[in-house]
Amino acid sequence: MPELPEVETMVRDLRLRLPGRRIRSTEVYWDRIIGYPDAESFASRIRNRRVATVDRRGKFALFRLEDGGVLAVHRGMTGSLLLRLPGEPEDRFVRARFHLDDGSEMRLDDSRKFGRLFLVDDEANEYRPPWTRLGVEPLDSSFTAATLAGRLAGRRAAIKTALLNQAIVAGIGNIYADEALFRARIHPERSAGTLSKREVGRLRTAITDVLMGAIEQRGTTFSTYRDVDGASGGNQRQLQVFHRHGQPCFRCGGEVKRIVLGARGTHFCPGCQRL
Ligand SMILES: [Zn+2]
Repeated sequence: MPELPEVETMVRDLRLRLPGRRIRSTEVYWDRIIGYPDAESFASRIRNRRVATVDRRGKFALFRLEDGGVLAVHRGMTGSLLLRLPGEPEDRFVRARFHLDDGSEMRLDDSRKFGRLFLVDDEANEYRPPWTRLGVEPLDSSFTAATLAGRLAGRRAAIKTALLNQAIVAGIGNIYADEALFRARIHPERSAGTLSKREVGRLRTAITDVLMGAIEQRGTTFSTYRDVDGASGGNQRQLQVFHRHGQPCFRCGGEVKRIVLGARGTHFCPGCQRL
């Protein structure tokens, strides 16, 4: 599933190519891919509007339009935004297609169909979109140990579960939660509110490091993630615990384990991450 680094990689690529482009028209092939408004209004309202900037908030890519509106993309489980030239072979699971004014097209390709597109003209009044309800951005300077400690204080949920809660910290999913907890040497089942100041400090650093490292590698491709040109990321080679259960821990040589926590597969080293 695309998490912050995969969305950031996409946003950085699109930022070089999309600002200034006008969206001539849009075809929606699967109505439910449109999160807001309905598919018909989406297609008619996006017509002829120009992209000014490309940003990210959590796992959302935000295309700010010149007239003040915002087109948001959430990639769900398997969604990729692909920039293609005319005549390039069709992708397999195209759910929506944007025709741009330079003749190229942007395709939302999504086999599992959990991706969503939103078009909002007035974020404050029209509709309260999900990206306005997210927690702290882990790459912002406001993401300090004190901020993280404040957000975890009093929470009884397992720390792994708390990290996946987008209202606490935005953008972390299953892969980077497991990787960050391993680096910070914190057991995923620890109750979030019981972490010491030192542990929270280690966790904050670990989160920043795993996310920045993954962005450098252009994301992690586990099954389906691709960048805007359809290429895979490279971070899967850096993973320390994710999907390494049964293999030796790189730090202590013990066996990496997998448990299910909050219905999510969770990977950790019982030797390095004690309860
Ligand atoms: Zn270990």
